[in-house]
Amino acid sequence: MELVRVVDHPAVADRLTRLRDAATGEPLFRRLLEDLGTLLAYEATRHLATREVRVRTPVGEASGVRLAGRTVFAPILRAGLGLVPGFLRVVEDAAVAHLGFFRDPGTLAAVPYYANLPDDLSDAAVFVLDPMLATGHSGAAALDVLASRGARDVTFACVIAAPEGIAHLAERHPAVRVVTCGIDRGLNDHGYIVPGLGDAGDRMFASATSVPAMRGERRPSPKTV
Ligand code: URA
Repeated sequence: MELVRVVDHPAVADRLTRLRDAATGEPLFRRLLEDLGTLLAYEATRHLATREVRVRTPVGEASGVRLAGRTVFAPILRAGLGLVPGFLRVVEDAAVAHLGFFRDPGTLAAVPYYANLPDDLSDAAVFVLDPMLATGHSGAAALDVLASRGARDVTFACVIAAPEGIAHLAERHPAVRVVTCGIDRGLNDHGYIVPGLGDAGDRMFASATSVPAMRGERRPSPKTV
């Protein structure tokens, strides 16, 4: 598989466009991200090993394959969680690791605050999940953590990538594959992808977003029902 793969499919493009739309509310945003997780996983897991098996059908015997080997999904908190259900739909028995980083607003550096993952990843196919590959700082930091546990077969799966993020990962971890639904123009001064979709975590979880503040707008007051 090439090192950077853009998933080119009308069903993916349709969901990505609706995900980007600022008018898309949280419930639909989460569902679209879940769908994109399944579609991304379908492409990103093409290299997984299989083992041959024979099964008995109601009318005879068939030869086939089952997924073989260990698979680990490592979502970067928070937004990476949105891709987990779709990935688990494709590889049902994968383990899920969790990696948390926050972004230092001054330097944009990734500061680790949580890591829960297997001790030994040397025999696992590992997939880092994050909808947005922006500066690549948290992505590279996640890959550092995984490498420290012996991970050798690593794919970074994202919905939108910025060229800066792809270049940063390629420089720090040249063997990592990147699978994405699209590559955007670049980053703004706040490290957000343009046109992107805003803050994926905020849009998933309806938390206060920094995007209006970036544009110099007032935050909308909380809705009352
Ligand atoms: N994280 C996001 O959620 N959005 C971006 O544009 C960049 C980082």
